[in-house]
Amino acid sequence: MNYEKLAALLFPNVDKSPEEYEAMFPIRDLPEGAKVTRLGPSPTGFIHLGNLFGAFADERLAHQSGGVFYLRIEDTDDKRFVEGAVEIIINSLRFFGINFDEGATIDGEMGAYGSYTQSQRGPIYQCFAKKLVSEGKAYPCFLTEEEIAEIRAQQEANKENPGIYGKWAKNRNLSLEDIEEKLSQGLPYVIRLKSDGDMSLPEDQIKRFEVEDAIRGTLNMPCNDQDTVILKANGIPTYHFAHAIDDHLMRTTHVVRGAEWLPSLPIHVELFEKLGWQPPIYCHTAQLMKIGEDGNKRKLSKRHDPELSLDYYRKLGYHPAAVREYLLTILNSNFEEWRIANPDADIDEFEFTTEKMSNSGALFDLNKLNDVSKDVLLKISASDLYDFLKSWSDEFKPELAPVFENRQYLERILDIGRAEAKPRKDHIYAQQMIENICYFFDDMFKIEDEMPAEAADDVAVIIGKYLESYNHADTQEEWFNKIRDIGTELGYAAKPKDFKKHPEEYKGHVGHVSTAIRIALMGRQQSPDVWEIQQILGEERTRARLSKFA
Ligand code: GLU
Repeated sequence: MNYEKLAALLFPNVDKSPEEYEAMFPIRDLPEGAKVTRLGPSPTGFIHLGNLFGAFADERLAHQSGGVFYLRIEDTDDKRFVEGAVEIIINSLRFFGINFDEGATIDGEMGAYGSYTQSQRGPIYQCFAKKLVSEGKAYPCFLTEEEIAEIRAQQEANKENPGIYGKWAKNRNLSLEDIEEKLSQGLPYVIRLKSDGDMSLPEDQIKRFEVEDAIRGTLNMPCNDQDTVILKANGIPTYHFAHAIDDHLMRTTHVVRGAEWLPSLPIHVELFEKLGWQPPIYCHTAQLMKIGEDGNKRKLSKRHDPELSLDYYRKLGYHPAAVREYLLTILNSNFEEWRIANPDADIDEFEFTTEKMSNSGALFDLNKLNDVSKDVLLKISASDLYDFLKSWSDEFKPELAPVFENRQYLERILDIGRAEAKPRKDHIYAQQMIENICYFFDDMFKIEDEMPAEAADDVAVIIGKYLESYNHADTQEEWFNKIRDIGTELGYAAKPKDFKKHPEEYKGHVGHVSTAIRIALMGRQQSPDVWEIQQILGEERTRARLSKFA
């Protein structure tokens, strides 16, 4: 077979040589050890935690080493394309602090290794498919869907591996004349890799290969034996082929991707070998798992777990710093230890490594995220929290605009109890914070809890007396003494333990009295210190709320 002739026949429009492309996209001029990583999302409009998890690893590896992190749009499957998806991807990742140096951007492309959109790279894929055909390493395959279904049925009946390989690769050895004949009839065809592997050999003779995965260590697998499709009938490459071409020509050094790609690794390794290239360093990350309703670990699923979507965190108003901090705890096993030793260090000072990444499921736990978030938010100043809440509200809850009218008021609210030796950790995410503090705003204030039964009959008297004695300038101690005095005067124990010991002697204790006041002021049984809240509410508002009960 004259492969050169076949290649020329199949690819009459290829006008550049592989060498020209190699020269157009030279090895990057970067410092020693610099890593080049990429994110290759499909533009489906759904960007999830797994993407962010991988993107974070990519970003750290590149930026920590003085390398490059770029965004490539993998849109070869046009059925999945969603308008505006690229913007969603870029904006969502930017929100979480993931910024690209190169690649697709909202205003077009940036960088010298493009196009970064696979659908724009047709001629490049054609060129390298032509090269493989011209070297006898790939061939046109005219098998129809029916023929492939028939092959599969036979394979099933014989209990053989499915696929187009070995004796099933019926178009592998078509003569040039046969091919010319089929082409002249206009029959559709795909281009398949002519694989060297042979899985029908006895187990000990099957060729194997080894790859050093940066997360998983040495992987030893049987070589690929499938005549994998590299160009589809419409000339568009498959993921496998596009991956090899793009990551080579864009000079990617590290490919971080999900473990679901491990089964395709033999194909990729063979493709790189046939193209005569060094494969990148693979980093196959663990699947994100959660503890399911039945107590067992399971993969996070788009259908069942709203927390898989990045929108979930944005809508609830998780602070990006909290999400980053949490992701690092599941990305690198030594992160939490580092954080304890360096409580105030910038997160970027942590040295992220692939070796410390888990290779079995990474457990995602919302409760843990919430705990991490409490610690992270504690370190964010009230002024920054104000800005964060405001931008969240502008985007998701514009009806909350009045909350932001008085910056100083809101900042004082956000700071309640935070300066103490054992600070309050009330803040988790924007939505929850607003629910937590809404009683400070008259429009949202409502009585949510019931008065304590022990004081229910005395509410008007208690609050009447409290109002009478109220002096906004009282210190916390003076204030409390007044409550205690009102309580004892009305028959409540000054100390809870006295009431516990002799319940028959008292109506209740001072705690019940102060709870009645708390509910009148805040509408809730639980709240931070009443005196402090009154100071923030201001005298007027405090008196107004109390008056309703007196
Ligand atoms: N387009 C692939 C995906 O969305 C990317 C996989 C990779 O990073 O290589 O799953």
